[in-house]
Amino acid sequence: MSLLNASIRELHTKIISKEIKPSELAAASLERIQATDGKIKAFLHIAAEEAMERAKALDEQVHDIRQRSATGDLSHLLFGIPGAIKDNLNTKGLPTTAASKILANYTSAYDATAVDRLNKENYVLVGKTNMDEFAMGSSGENSGYFPTHNPWDLERVPGGSSSGSAAAVSAGQVLFALGSDTGGSIRQPAAYTGVVGLKPTYGLVSRFGLISYASSLDQIGPFTQTVEDAAVVLQAIAGHDPHDSTSANVAVPRYLDALTGDIKGLRIALPSEYFEEGLDPAVRAEVEKAIRVLESLGATVGQVSLPHTKYALAAYYLIAPAEASSNLARFDGVRYGVRTEADTLVEMYKQTRAQGFGEEVKRRIMLGTYALSSGYYDAYYLRAQKTRTLIKQDFDHVFASYDVILSPTAPTTAFKIGAKVEDPVTMYLNDIYTIPVNLAGIPAISVPCGLADGLPVGLQLIGKAFDETTLLRVAHAYETARGAMPRAML
Ligand code: GLN
Repeated sequence: MSLLNASIRELHTKIISKEIKPSELAAASLERIQATDGKIKAFLHIAAEEAMERAKALDEQVHDIRQRSATGDLSHLLFGIPGAIKDNLNTKGLPTTAASKILANYTSAYDATAVDRLNKENYVLVGKTNMDEFAMGSSGENSGYFPTHNPWDLERVPGGSSSGSAAAVSAGQVLFALGSDTGGSIRQPAAYTGVVGLKPTYGLVSRFGLISYASSLDQIGPFTQTVEDAAVVLQAIAGHDPHDSTSANVAVPRYLDALTGDIKGLRIALPSEYFEEGLDPAVRAEVEKAIRVLESLGATVGQVSLPHTKYALAAYYLIAPAEASSNLARFDGVRYGVRTEADTLVEMYKQTRAQGFGEEVKRRIMLGTYALSSGYYDAYYLRAQKTRTLIKQDFDHVFASYDVILSPTAPTTAFKIGAKVEDPVTMYLNDIYTIPVNLAGIPAISVPCGLADGLPVGLQLIGKAFDETTLLRVAHAYETARGAMPRAML
């Protein structure tokens, strides 16, 4: 059995008792990647040498960490733990491409705040993970380089856009990975690959150093095997950052303290709009089993309505492309990345962008530019923003009488590679249960809740703003009662 088949806390105990060394863990992670990544293709860049060098240096520091840990200081739980980072997060000295050809030659000049905080805990970075180009997609197939394969079935997608981060954790290549979630890009791939994925409240984790897709929706969060591990990683990356003007200045609670297993009297809302037509009956059956488990733990369940859900996709596909069209204007062949030379400056811009961006990215830039153009702004962008407010009010209304909202994470299990690439709208519809959460800025977690036809199903729990504590508590209580889930056979 792999050394990595344990929780972060278990490994921490073994590291500080000198039962295992950080360098042995790093070597186990790199061996697993070596053995499986030819098929899965979770990584765009494997930092093998850097990881081993770092881990060997940590081997010499175990004594210091042991002393801190003895005083109850939990700030070094990630010491020596191998992790991976989505390739739209800056990692100093390593390539950061957002899976785009336009950044093929780009090396980060600095660390994103979330990465910097992991560094301060002395985690070991083993590599940068594959993704849909600029985080635009739901399957990983929009990567400018190659698609990632689902460790449960190599002919299927792992979901997206954080395809590589999800697959790397699912395949046991690393203990945790960071992803970003603009409309579901952490939760949906977590559901498809049978791992835990958490999208924090907008503003809880600094976006400094994240390559922006849609700035008012983007959030960074963890992929892990368990809810407890998600709490550990969130603890490390959450908290105010003066480098991000949208970073919230709120106190970060000790998330591990929330994992009591006690959810008696908890009020769970089931939104009827998330259980309608389009939901695969096999997925519904697994989610319904999870509801019964939560009831057996003492939670009460009630039916609610989120009536503006039907407008969420339309609003998202105006707001996200509008923000993307503005954010991606910076990739012009002058400041970053690859340039295609031409006779005039304007021609150089055009050629660089025509050759550097993939099809989906171009589609979104055009959609967004159109939606923002004068004469159309009020009809599209402004109305989408008003719809967004109504969607947020739907959630506020439910949270006046409930603690969490429960739904499937996605309407189906992982689909076959190639099944939806020809039809962008079918692909967009896949995010129907995840997108409203980003529009409202609230947190949500996906936890594996069973298998349908041998493929993982994700349970989504949605919480009040900055109430990650309740989400983690419920998810952990459920996970404990559910019992162990099978791992991907690879
Ligand atoms: N699939 C959605 C999109 O393509 C969400 C992506 C994301 O969350 N980054 O925009």
